[in-house]
Amino acid sequence: MIPFIDLAAQQKRIRPQIEAAMLRVLDHGGYIMGPEVQALEDQLSAFCGAPHTLSCANGTDALALILMAKQVGPGDAVFVPSFTFAATAEVVAWMGATVVFIDVLPDTFNMDPASLEAGVQKAKKLGLRPSGVIPVDLFGQPADYDAIASLAQAHGLWVMADAAQSFGGTYKGRKVGTLAESTTTSFFPAKPLGCYGDGGAVFTESNDLFEVLKSLRVHGQCADGDKYKNIRIGMNGRLDTLQAAILIEKLEIFPGEIIMRQSIADRYTKGLQDVATVPFVRKDCQSTWAIYTLKVDPLKRVAIMEGLKEKGVPSVIYYPLPLHRQEAYCAYPCATDSLPVSEALSQTVLSLPMHPYLEPETQDFIIQTFRDVVKQIG
Ligand SMILES: *Cc1c(COP(=O)(O)O)cnc(C)c1O
Repeated sequence: MIPFIDLAAQQKRIRPQIEAAMLRVLDHGGYIMGPEVQALEDQLSAFCGAPHTLSCANGTDALALILMAKQVGPGDAVFVPSFTFAATAEVVAWMGATVVFIDVLPDTFNMDPASLEAGVQKAKKLGLRPSGVIPVDLFGQPADYDAIASLAQAHGLWVMADAAQSFGGTYKGRKVGTLAESTTTSFFPAKPLGCYGDGGAVFTESNDLFEVLKSLRVHGQCADGDKYKNIRIGMNGRLDTLQAAILIEKLEIFPGEIIMRQSIADRYTKGLQDVATVPFVRKDCQSTWAIYTLKVDPLKRVAIMEGLKEKGVPSVIYYPLPLHRQEAYCAYPCATDSLPVSEALSQTVLSLPMHPYLEPETQDFIIQTFRDVVKQIG
């Protein structure tokens, strides 16, 4: 079977650098908040242009840290797209706030501003306080931050970008990490910039927010660094030094990998545009192509996946059920009676292997197999 994401190919390329970086940590022994953590945060800020970067344990904690800093709680409505990974909504539920599910656009798969407006009206009707919005940059393409910002401003909402899949991307020439007051990302191994375990980060332009986040990351400790003086309820949300050391080496090759991902996406699109609906990326956006997702006839999807699998080509459905239909989340309100685009997408999407080291011959085999299977099904 062709790997869906080949992490080994990248490791082979930078194995000596990774080993040296890990050995440096073993030598200095600063496993928690060692020097690599600050160094990585500085390098991430330099990379994306965000004034402040706070590394943390994973992308879910990154989202939660901001909600904690915002003191989101019962009675607050937080607007989340339904077509996303569960973590985006999960953290809102942790806080006792109410998730209000928003529909997405059929072309970019990102939050639909018109549905957000409907969601705010729905929250008010339910007697909730509209608090904030969490646009998700699905599959690597930034959401429409200008449209969302103007609605957020009109309704007094904070905006937190869930960039778990899009770190490294751009929107109208601006880099992910600077597109909202705060941005979160994940360094889960399969994300475009991944470590060898769990990791995440928060980016913000706000000095005040950053000070609170630093405290929350270490059990709400006092700003003077006295560990045993707790001035707020926080968490243990630190990034391991070993993961920071690994990420420093991976960040080095990351810009080149985004270019490699783009050319692989282009090759798929060229080879498949007459047999499937290929991904749409706005002209003013750079996607990081975390995932390459096609739309196919829902009645043929299972047969296509089986045909691909028979030839050793893996395919995955991101996401088979929109969050508002999941058992854990179906009691939360939706912007409108149904969220038709999220519902339809969950029936039609299909993702193909995507990583920077996909060889042209392997990719051509995937493309040809897809074409053959579609033709065979008729
Ligand atoms: C991966 C992901 C997360 C969570 O990141 P973890 O590091 O796994 O906690 C959150 N949101 C989205 C959209 C993701 O894809």
